[in-house]
Amino acid sequence: HADIAMYEAKTAGRNTLRFYDQQMQAVIAARVLLEQELRLALIDNQFRLYYQPQVIDRLIIGVEALIRWQHPQHGLRQPLDFIPLAEENGLIVPIGQWVLDSACAQIKAWESHPQMEHLQLAVNVSLRQFRQADFVERVSCIIQHYAIRPHRLKLEITESQLMENIDDAIEKIRALRELGVRFSMDDFGTGYSSLANLKKLPIDQLKIDRSFVKDILRNDDDRIIVQTIIAMANKMHLEVIAEGVETEHQRDFLILNGCNLHQGYLYGKPMSLATLEQLLTESIDDKSPSSQITITEL
Ligand code: C2E
Ligand code: MG
Ligand code: MG
Ligand code: MG
Repeated sequence: HADIAMYEAKTAGRNTLRFYDQQMQAVIAARVLLEQELRLALIDNQFRLYYQPQVIDRLIIGVEALIRWQHPQHGLRQPLDFIPLAEENGLIVPIGQWVLDSACAQIKAWESHPQMEHLQLAVNVSLRQFRQADFVERVSCIIQHYAIRPHRLKLEITESQLMENIDDAIEKIRALRELGVRFSMDDFGTGYSSLANLKKLPIDQLKIDRSFVKDILRNDDDRIIVQTIIAMANKMHLEVIAEGVETEHQRDFLILNGCNLHQGYLYGKPMSLATLEQLLTESIDDKSPSSQITITEL
């Protein structure tokens, strides 16, 4: 009986192993496939930029470019489905280059539209992209290629990414800001930057992470964190933008506390170029000439 029990245990073990093995293989196969598809997507121009409005007092003063993947079989895919893998395998570098190039081409195209020429375009930059030794040259090359005004371009880098090698970050940001490019610290509040580091970084804007804005009216801690970030940004003469603004209550709270630059579903979800251009054309049509002057000056 002992022998039989032993035999059964061994077989069960083997079967379990085989089962895990098959599962692992399926996971690996899926990753390999996704990686191949991502390479093809680059060659085949399957990526798209969507645009989400950044708003002051109902006026759209800028947009954030957010990548989407128009997959030939699976339709429009969101960044979370493919950006993490691209960051692991390095494909984020050429993908990021495509994003920057497309964003600058778009800034150029908007220069000849009176309704669009004032827009600031914010672009997300991932750590591996930013860490490239020639990142500064790459960005300045694209700006020169399209002959755009550099201050139309704003680069968003997350707080934790900026802190990873702060001296390198300072150097690159300084060089690009000398050209006129602007910088925003994305997902602010979720990383571990000390105030000393924050002071050292020559950035233009703090972007309050959506997770704090979400419960601003229900959670005392979040409310205090948001109030503190706004007060600190204002004291340090940094622009501050709140992301993930979904309700009028959140909007009112933010304005009351000194943050009037907002991004979130309340004002618009990320949208295609055509939808954005339509929205801007319509919203400008019923604005008086004086408010258009305000937009241009911002
Ligand atoms: P992020 O840069 O923090 O972008 C903001 C995300 O919050 C976007 O998600 C946006 O759709 C979402 N969002 C904005 N307002 C609201 C709101 O009111 N409610 C809710 N629930 N969500 C809101 P998305 O487009 O899925 O992008 C997710 C992340 O993927 C981005 O976070 C960014 O880290 C990354 N990503 C997107 N595009 C690019 C890109 O071109 N390059 C790189 N490296 N990363 C990108
Ligand atoms: Mg962002
Ligand atoms: Mg963010
Ligand atoms: Mg985020």
